[in-house]
Amino acid sequence: MTRVKLASGTREVVLRGLTGRDEKFLLQQKARDPARVVQDLLIACLDGVKSIDDWFLGDVYHALVALRIETYGSLYEFKFICGNDRCKSQSNAQVDLAKIPVTPIQKNVNPDSLEFKFADGKAAVMRLARGRDLNVISSMLQSPGSGLTQALILQTVRYDGKEPVPGIYDDYSLRELVTLRDFIRTNDCEIDTGIQLNCPKCGWNGLGQIRFTPDFFLPSETQRPT
Ligand SMILES: [Zn+2]
Repeated sequence: MTRVKLASGTREVVLRGLTGRDEKFLLQQKARDPARVVQDLLIACLDGVKSIDDWFLGDVYHALVALRIETYGSLYEFKFICGNDRCKSQSNAQVDLAKIPVTPIQKNVNPDSLEFKFADGKAAVMRLARGRDLNVISSMLQSPGSGLTQALILQTVRYDGKEPVPGIYDDYSLRELVTLRDFIRTNDCEIDTGIQLNCPKCGWNGLGQIRFTPDFFLPSETQRPT
């Protein structure tokens, strides 16, 4: 059992590492939505937590990283395919999960009332995404035709003084909507899940990302506890 202070700086949890029973759970759930499986796994390993619906997403991701560290140690080794089309060779890479940068929420930020002014003078009140949004976000990522605009509506509390309705952002430029997304990000807590990848064969550099799928938590051939 380990006590961890999570990314937001406002939540502390106690968690245990995975057991053989957890591996069985992960292997038996392959047909389900991976985001839900991973949430169920996390809750099972947290002491005294029944739901993560109210958690900031940065805290959820941070707890998932902490769960992996508690189970296998901080060294995460994985394979990746080179992004250079003429190379495409497979290489090994590793990340020290204990050293991933974390950004807390600033003290003056109200996570449920972030005011953003559009260039047309209209105002939107936004909120930070929570654990309960994860399922919506993960099913949105799988369905075609939904992206940034949909995600922004999900996080809108009020738009132009009214309840948000579908289509409110349809006429805004994507440039301005990206500015709104970045505005929310600068107020949010975060654990940086980007990974710098370098291909040793051709010298290609690219950015990968830690994916919180069941595979992230299953033992692999290369894992050695640190
Ligand atoms: Zn390469």
